[in-house]
Amino acid sequence: MDPITALLEKVLIDVRPHDDGQPASYIPELASADPDLLAFGVVGPRGRVITAGDDGAEFTIQSMSKPFVLALALQTLGRDAVFARVGAEPSGEPFNAISLEAQTGRPANPMVNAGAIATTALIDGADIDERTSRVVAAMSAFAGRSLWIDESVYSSESGTGDRNRALAHLLKSYGIIRGSVHDAVETYFRQCSVLVTVRDLAVMAATLAFGGRNPVTGERVVSERVARDVTSIMASCGMYDFSGEWMLRVGLPAKSGVSGGVMAVATSQFGVAAFSPRLDAHGNSVRASAIVEILSDRFGMHVLEPHESIAAPGVTVEESAAGPVVRLGGELGFAGAERVISLLREIAASTPSAAQITVDAAELARVHPAAVLVLRTEIEALAPRFRLLE
Ligand code: GLN
Repeated sequence: MDPITALLEKVLIDVRPHDDGQPASYIPELASADPDLLAFGVVGPRGRVITAGDDGAEFTIQSMSKPFVLALALQTLGRDAVFARVGAEPSGEPFNAISLEAQTGRPANPMVNAGAIATTALIDGADIDERTSRVVAAMSAFAGRSLWIDESVYSSESGTGDRNRALAHLLKSYGIIRGSVHDAVETYFRQCSVLVTVRDLAVMAATLAFGGRNPVTGERVVSERVARDVTSIMASCGMYDFSGEWMLRVGLPAKSGVSGGVMAVATSQFGVAAFSPRLDAHGNSVRASAIVEILSDRFGMHVLEPHESIAAPGVTVEESAAGPVVRLGGELGFAGAERVISLLREIAASTPSAAQITVDAAELARVHPAAVLVLRTEIEALAPRFRLLE
């Protein structure tokens, strides 16, 4: 067994004893899930998928569909049109609460049911089937394979979905839903009933983690800005009324679903997904949450943890007849630019004053405007000894 897989297997051993909580029962079909199922998966930048535990188990995506439908709405309609109908504020309330803004009726955010139904209602289509196929196609692109619906979970949810129907009618009364309430709600039930495995979910999370590009298929699914917007909303609202404490303890944008899944996004590092059906009082899986918390800890993924390498370019120095050539590669951020400048000063101090020092920034894969400005200003001040190639 390779050392990474061994490390991941150890996580399963550590969380298995947590057997508190219950599978969701308000959707009858979910109550019959085997409560002992336990699995997770991790996907890195090159699309390598590592899974552990019951990784063949299929379960319905439930609320973890919400970020992907939000992504589809943002990609097709733009930020303004979407956030005119749904807010971006954590509600501090349970997922099925009537979290609507006092005057406008706008739901608090797209991660609670009211906001998700409002978001789904924005997806255009002549009928439920057409809307559903758009939504499922978008989710499939995130997963890198064709996903489909568990019809018995859908019937179970639709048959008992009065609270969601009531929320949708309220949204209609405020003009947040413009078309058919029935179509919006049934499409929402269908999107929640899409079957996935931890592998699928980890790839979906990874697509958000790598700026909207699926690292397994290589396909650009949504723009970098859309992926960033969705991840931002997950960071503040993804774990319902546990979102603040989740950020404190785990520090990763995440989304849970009542089937027992949790997926999390470590931007530029990993997509993670875990599954275990027993839920806590917030409707978040006990063991899946524990898995993500342990991973965040052991792999240093908390977003607010200091990272030495953030946007620090790779530097190679070559000698040429005219003097040293400093080649920059990778990403140049603001703090990285400061480091490069101090390195340039050291090189200048140890180089004969007649030699010209060339800084080659033409091969950088990614640059941030403030970083280039700092580098350019500094190099201009040091001219004519330094020359910058951009
Ligand atoms: N389909 C579920 C519902 O609408 C989704 C809720 C969830 O996963 N938190 O109630």
